[in-house]
Amino acid sequence: MADRFHVNSPLGVGPVELDGPEAHHLATVCRLRPGDVVCLFNGDGREYPAEVTQVAKRVVSLNVLRVEAPERELAFRLEVAAPVPKGDRAQFLVEKLTELGVTTFVPLKTARSVVEPREAKREKLERYVIEASKQCGRNVLMQIEPLAEWASYCCRDTLPPRRLLAHPGGAGRLGVGGEVDAALAVGPEGGFTDEEVGAARSAGWQVIGLGPRILRIETAAVVLAGRLSVNGYP
Ligand code: SAH
Repeated sequence: MADRFHVNSPLGVGPVELDGPEAHHLATVCRLRPGDVVCLFNGDGREYPAEVTQVAKRVVSLNVLRVEAPERELAFRLEVAAPVPKGDRAQFLVEKLTELGVTTFVPLKTARSVVEPREAKREKLERYVIEASKQCGRNVLMQIEPLAEWASYCCRDTLPPRRLLAHPGGAGRLGVGGEVDAALAVGPEGGFTDEEVGAARSAGWQVIGLGPRILRIETAAVVLAGRLSVNGYP
């Protein structure tokens, strides 16, 4: 796969300019030069092979050669809700969920959450989505929603019928695949409270266990999303 660069504007065949961190990445990190062919994407589901025509200090000029639409998305909607873990683990979580094709990530506020991502943090998470999409070939960006309170999130009427909440000791077991829309919820390091699990059950969530060891937030989220995503291709 050619080196991929994200552009924050509509794209089409013809000239385009790249600036900011993506231009720096192309010119300084990858050391690409006029004549090299790269792949541009902007999250619209397509990708745009383009030839570098000029490399200046802060701006790279390219010529988009054609438009392609390879199928790399899941055939169903997969939403993951979890508190944002601390430090580097937040990056790991967002990176892996992006690779797995998750449609939407919902940062959760629960009774025992520690980290509450502010707006600046959300921008950082969105940057991780772009970085992961460059690497894995995704042309649709995983959406990051604003912080949601568990009590209201778990009752949203826009959620799909298949809703799974991971809770140590949960009686349910996770089957594979299923290619149907699903929402997956993971709790904070302190766990969901009994009230939160009760609210989820009343709202129709299935409470499932992931084995006898306690997993970190990001491990539980990646296991859940991975289990549902790997069969989900058209
Ligand atoms: N101390 C907490 C564990 C929190 S781990 C407790 O005992 O509940 C963080 C989150 O990961 C949990 O809220 C749950 O959603 C998920 N998780 C971790 N290990 C799990 C397991 N073995 N089964 C199901 N969910 C698990």
